[in-house]
Amino acid sequence: MATFALIPAAGSGTRLAGGAPKQYLPLAGQPMLWHAVRALCVPQVAAVFVVLAAHDEQFARQDWEAFGAKLHPLYCGGETRRDSVFNGLVAVRDSVNADDWVLVHDAARPCLPRADLRRLMDEGAADSVGAILALPVADTVKTAGKDEAGVQRIAATQERSQLWLAQTPQMFRAGLLTQALSRCAGATDDAAAIEQMGLKPRLVLGSRQNLKVTYPEDVAIAEAILARTL
Ligand code: C5P
Repeated sequence: MATFALIPAAGSGTRLAGGAPKQYLPLAGQPMLWHAVRALCVPQVAAVFVVLAAHDEQFARQDWEAFGAKLHPLYCGGETRRDSVFNGLVAVRDSVNADDWVLVHDAARPCLPRADLRRLMDEGAADSVGAILALPVADTVKTAGKDEAGVQRIAATQERSQLWLAQTPQMFRAGLLTQALSRCAGATDDAAAIEQMGLKPRLVLGSRQNLKVTYPEDVAIAEAILARTL
């Protein structure tokens, strides 16, 4: 059984990157996507597929030489993240067997530590369903509801001990994930599609270093982490 990586990078969010899609935001001298690819270019991963928007013009302008023949761009991104991952899996059907593992990793997580990836691959490969990196919630979580004046008020406090934050990579068999995504409705990560089939992916402890770059203040944090690990 081989292990492949697939990075959906067809999002069009430009808020952080001054007009360019977020995956090309420069971080520590390289586009964010470059760091996500680097994190997955390990000997245990046979190939890294990057799913780009059909009209992406930025990828070809960057220097990907460091990754040699391991990196394969696919210009088949879709409307949503789920569509991009599904289209990518369909595009590589001839080179990836249904039983092979696929690590799906967001381009927006450029600081994935080597140790987290190793833990996920070790625990995931031993699991019949698959696994995701995740973190137990440290904060107290409230659900909100608006009052008559439109003010947000606390409707309830959640029982924190059972809440985890889902990260990526998420590791599933290619065949199972393709099937799950083909029939799922509205999944914001791959595990949610697998859950809709009635299966329970394993939670593997991740770390806060593997942050999702979302808000302007995340950029400096990501650069500080990369400066220590590059
Ligand atoms: O928007 P968000 O940050 O949740 O996106 C997560 C990942 O999914 C990003 O790497 C983004 O580029 C990717 N994506 C995609 N196709 C879309 C929307 C998002 O590949 N249509």
